[in-house]
Amino acid sequence: MRVNVAELRRQPGARQKVTLLEDIGPGPDESCRLGLVEVEAELANTGLAISLAGVARARVRLRCSRCLKEFDAMLEAPLEERFREVPDPPGRESGFEGEEDEDVILYHGREIDLREPVLEGLALAVPMQPLCRLSCPGLCPTCGIEGGSADCGCAPEHGDPRLAALRRLTQDDGHSKERY
Ligand SMILES: [Zn+2]
Ligand SMILES: [Zn+2]
Repeated sequence: MRVNVAELRRQPGARQKVTLLEDIGPGPDESCRLGLVEVEAELANTGLAISLAGVARARVRLRCSRCLKEFDAMLEAPLEERFREVPDPPGRESGFEGEEDEDVILYHGREIDLREPVLEGLALAVPMQPLCRLSCPGLCPTCGIEGGSADCGCAPEHGDPRLAALRRLTQDDGHSKERY
């Protein structure tokens, strides 16, 4: 996700379009496997920094929080960052301790690296409880097979996903009352 800003950084007020399509590795965490990541953004030299504004999109493989099956989804994350050039390669000991401006990414040389902000943005875009589809019935509480599927041979009331979900909810509620 490296972008050459050699020209841009010399001209305050200048802008530069960025379009990237890259494989940037496995993804924010194990529950989410990233496919190709697309970035469409614009860089601008603000005089003090290089600002980035745009969007990152990625195809991901997620695991459904109800039926536990994996499914493909698209993530989209807004990108908004600022990069400031430092004379030495940025690192922990780069003499910027006490620097208050936390949302500036330091860079050195002709290139900035969008990988970190893109990964961060996509990580935030992963749903807390991914669903393969909104109406996913989850697993049958009796047999453990996907509720309402042909393989679930339980009594009709067990097979009804809405009733099963409701029953799970009320059961959970009961347990939590017992516990506290
Ligand atoms: Zn599901
Ligand atoms: Zn069943």
